[in-house]
Order: sequence, then C-alpha cells, then structure tokens
Amino acid sequence: MSPEPLLTDPKPRLQDRFGRVASKLRLSVTDRCNLRCLYCMPAEGLAWQPKTEILSFEEILTLVGIFSQLGIEQIRLTGGEPLLRQDLPQLVAALGQLPLKKIALTSNGILLPELMPALYRAGLRSLNISLDSLLPARFAQLTRRDDYDRVLAGLAHLENYPDLAIKLNVVVLRGFNADEALPFAELAREKAWSVRFIEFMPLGKSDGWLPTEVVPGETLRQEIAAIYPLLPIEAAGANPASRWCFADGAPGEIGLINSVSEPFCQSCNRIRLTADGMLRNCLFSTQELNLKAPLREGASTAELSALILNWVAQKEAGHQINQVGFERPLRSMSQIGG
Ligand code: SAM
Ligand code: SF4
Repeated sequence: MSPEPLLTDPKPRLQDRFGRVASKLRLSVTDRCNLRCLYCMPAEGLAWQPKTEILSFEEILTLVGIFSQLGIEQIRLTGGEPLLRQDLPQLVAALGQLPLKKIALTSNGILLPELMPALYRAGLRSLNISLDSLLPARFAQLTRRDDYDRVLAGLAHLENYPDLAIKLNVVVLRGFNADEALPFAELAREKAWSVRFIEFMPLGKSDGWLPTEVVPGETLRQEIAAIYPLLPIEAAGANPASRWCFADGAPGEIGLINSVSEPFCQSCNRIRLTADGMLRNCLFSTQELNLKAPLREGASTAELSALILNWVAQKEAGHQINQVGFERPLRSMSQIGG
C-alpha cells in the first residue's frame, strides 16, 4: 500500500539543526544472521526478535514511501543478514516502483547463488559483500562459522552479472587481519572491484572493542601505496569512503572508511530504520523513534511524516567515540543494521 501523498509546498526535507540533509536510508530487514562475526554479534545469547515485531513488507513500503516523499533517494537493504529475509526479491521489486534513485544491498554473500538470480530480475544492481579475510581458518575464527567456501562461491556467482556494481567490505582488526591489506588490494586489481577497509567501531556490549584494536585506514593506505602507488579519486564527504585508484592504471579501487580516526559526522546524510521499525539518526544513537507503534495504530501519512521530520531535526552532532564519556548503543550492529 503506498502512502497518501504529502501535499505541502515547498516539500519538507529531512534537515537537522546543523543543516545536514538526509538522503540515504539504511533499511534493516532482519536481525537474524547465519554468521556470528566477533565484532558484530556475541557467540550466543542474542535472541532474535519475534516475527510479529518485525515490520512486514507492507509496513516497510508504507514507511519507505513516506521517506521518499521526504527526500530519501537511496536505500540500502541490510540486517542481520538480509538474504535470510523470506521473499526479499519481492521487496526489492516493490521498492523499485518507488521514486528512488538507488537500491543497494549489503550481505555476507553466503546465500547469493540461491538468491541473486531473483534479486537481479527484481532490479538489484548494487551490492556490497563483507569478507574480512582471504584465509579460510581466519575467516572461521572471525565469523565463528565454517562458511568461507560458500562466501567464495557467492562471489564467484556474481561474475555472471557483469553490470553489477560490487564492493567488498573489510573490517580491519589489529592482531587479526591487519596483515591482509595487500592481498585485498591485489584482489581489487584482479577482479576490478572496489575493496573498502572499514575501521572497527564500538557497537554492542561484547564486541571486545578497544581503541588499540583500531587500525587507522591511513596506515593501510600507506602500506598498499608502498607497493601499488595510489591516486585519490574522491575525498570522504557525503560518501563515508575516501576513494583511491591504482596509479599504474590497474582496474579496481581502494576505499577507506575511517569512522574512528577521521569521523565524517559533519557531512552525514543517512538515517537508519531497524527491522523492528525504530528510526535511528546515527549508528551510535542511544535513542530511537518508534515508528512501528504509530503505524500499527493507524497514524496518517501526515502524522508519520511530522514524527520523522521532528526526529531527524534532532540528529546528534556526531558520535563521541574518541571522547571521554562515550556511550555505546545498547543494540549490536546486527540489530541496528550496518
Ligand atoms: N550481514 C551483512 C554483512 O555482513 O554484510 C549485513 C549487515 S552487517 C551488520 C553490515 C556491515 O557492518 C558489514 O560490512 C560488517 O562488516 C560491518 N560491521 C559490523 N560490525 C561492525 C563494527 N563493530 N565495526 C565496523 N563495521 C562493522
Ligand atoms: Fe552477520 Fe553481517 Fe554481523 Fe557478520 S557482520 S554477524 S554477517 S550481520
């Protein structure tokens, strides 16, 4: 069901008190996952939300319809593992009917061979795959699951779709995989992929995060550039990643998401909707706006829009990771939607 149109002129925008305008929405479709990455989820004890608490496709489409009227142009489907959500291709196809500029997906890749044909038919053309190690034993240690071959099969399957925009996300943890910057850079060159190194962020109670575990993206850039000189394509800004290409003309590129060492909060243009219908202004927000309750109680498009506009207006100036008194969000990354 699409929401009633908002008939205001000029159109309201999702602007906060610092002048930032939200145009991107991270949409989590499930809190469930088939991996248990050390930095994202505890090994055990994180109960899944009951299905009744998770937004239905109809509810998602109503809310995304409203967000799109408020200026959201790009949606990234995430989770948990979004490919675990039943009938995901149907959701992608329905989102494709809304006036959005881009629909993208972030996945661990395990279920791609089964689901990619239908997702492609539904219109999905942009995909980020998370893979933190090219060493099977290390992958198993990081994800607490033995699925390295399935992820590789998922990546190999993607070669059937030459017009897909593929990025590989690598979270770097000191003492774990910080020695793999070069092999990942070589993979970027070989496959013409964008490989993006993400700094380890403190999310969740049991992720073991310590400032000393964070490897600054600049360190990795220098290490790669010493062997394969790099040229800047784009500085971090509205996109959190700074982008670099290979000076020798090899295909592929390197991205650095330096969320901890070089926060990009001032130019943040994204908001998040959790699978259970909570609107978050920031990954690190300690408060959320419950949109599911008013939606299920029959709130009108105008009422929901007013709630959303008011909430986004109050977006925090930025996360305080590097400051004394920093408070972690209570939810893990898998529950928020990374
Ligand atoms: N399951 C999917 C996946 O792994 O791609 C989508 C959800 S996952 C939460 C989204 C992204 O968040 C992944 O690239 C993951 O590596 C990243 N992530 C999770 N916890 C993180 C943390 N503590 N610091 C930095 N990135 C993190
Ligand atoms: Fe699952 Fe993605 Fe979190 Fe790993 S990073 S546990 S794959 S949600």
